[in-house]
Amino acid sequence: MTDAAELRRRTQELLAAHPPADTGRADFLRARFDAGLAWVHFPEGLGGLGAPRSLQAVVDAELQTAGAPDNDPRRIGIGLGMAAPTILQYGTEEQKRRFLRPLWTGEEVWCQLFSEPGAGSDLAALGTRAVREDSGDWVVDGQKVWTSSAHLARWAILIARTDPEVPKHRGITYFVCDMTDPGVEVRPLRQITGEAEFNEVFLTGVRIPDAHRLGEVGDGWRVAQTTLNNERVAIGGMRLPREGGMIGPVSKTWRERPGLRTHDLHQRLLKLWVEAEVARLAGERLRQQLVAGQPGPEGAGMKLGFARLNQEISGLEVELRGEEGLLYDDWTMRRPELVDFTGRDAGYRYLRSKGNSIEGGTSEVLLNIVAERVLGLPAEPRTDKDVAWKDLAR
Ligand SMILES: Cc1cc2nc3c(=O)[nH]c(=O)nc-3n(C[C@H](O)[C@H](O)[C@H](O)COP(=O)(O)OP(=O)(O)OC[C@H]3O[C@@H](n4cnc5c(N)ncnc54)[C@H](O)[C@@H]3O)c2cc1C
Repeated sequence: MTDAAELRRRTQELLAAHPPADTGRADFLRARFDAGLAWVHFPEGLGGLGAPRSLQAVVDAELQTAGAPDNDPRRIGIGLGMAAPTILQYGTEEQKRRFLRPLWTGEEVWCQLFSEPGAGSDLAALGTRAVREDSGDWVVDGQKVWTSSAHLARWAILIARTDPEVPKHRGITYFVCDMTDPGVEVRPLRQITGEAEFNEVFLTGVRIPDAHRLGEVGDGWRVAQTTLNNERVAIGGMRLPREGGMIGPVSKTWRERPGLRTHDLHQRLLKLWVEAEVARLAGERLRQQLVAGQPGPEGAGMKLGFARLNQEISGLEVELRGEEGLLYDDWTMRRPELVDFTGRDAGYRYLRSKGNSIEGGTSEVLLNIVAERVLGLPAEPRTDKDVAWKDLAR
């Protein structure tokens, strides 16, 4: 079993062979992956050493002290947080070897082609069609929407309907889609912040080799659950230092500018500070549970809490700053490479946090998941679960 001491030794070996000061960023990250120090809980040969997931912090701390570059996880969150665990669980050996290394180093960005104009919360109703050709390969036609980072992505995780004759959850298959295929058209969609982080994506006669199918034909809904459960943890369970999230900038302003303080704001700030700390510690606990296996519905609870807190804290920040808090006035269309809450002004944080209760599953839908799968309350009536997808009203 690889323990902390062994990981420290291997990390020092990596640093000695590839001193960060004299090694290019991409070369260092590739060497780190090959040394099994990328995500230590992954198998050997795939960037890991089969070590306990909790020991990743040991490697990260050693590398940070040595000034080594990281893989900029905020830029490649969909690949790291969602595509990688799905490929690891359902991919063939060939797929794992082809995709995981450039995914982790950030040389290939990933996006998620799940939501459609008529299928968001009710994702299983999706209508993008994948039709199999005699050769065994697939041709995909349809439209996806709200696709974050599609304009930067080399690959996408895609779910498409392969059998319209069976009920909606059963006729879906999961693919890896090449975003450079000539049939992929990406158009920007602007958000309330003025930025276009996400896109509509039109798929017209996109060809996908059968070797890029993840999991069995018709089993895509089950494969997608791995992605969605990991997505909620990736959004709601980020590792943060104390005051590392949205509460940080508000606390800083509070400390530095006593003139802005009122009794009411004081009470509200204290309450939110405590809630942010509770959420941070609950996130730590969730990550410890992950050591024992795949995330389950508890990730939905984390993501729910994260969305509500971000919205309340960013609202308080705007109030605290008064007129100055309303000064966000840059609605020029921009295509950000990453979503960075902390490096931006209060107005941006307030506007961007509105999306937190929609992305990765709306808060209402996550409440349903917590009610049914955590609390064991009666399920919502589902009248369409035995009806063939082609016969559903759309
Ligand atoms: C910033 C951002 C980034 C995103 N990035 C991606 C991405 O990269 N890839 C991707 O595939 N998707 C992405 N999405 C899409 C996101 O997953 C969907 O917007 C979300 O699942 C909701 O779907 P919808 O927008 O179609 O809303 P709808 O499903 O139409 O919901 C409308 C309203 O009805 C409520 N509602 C629906 N069903 C129920 C129910 N059963 N019970 C109670 N209330 C219900 C919802 O809570 C919501 O308030 C992103 C969204 C945002 C905001």
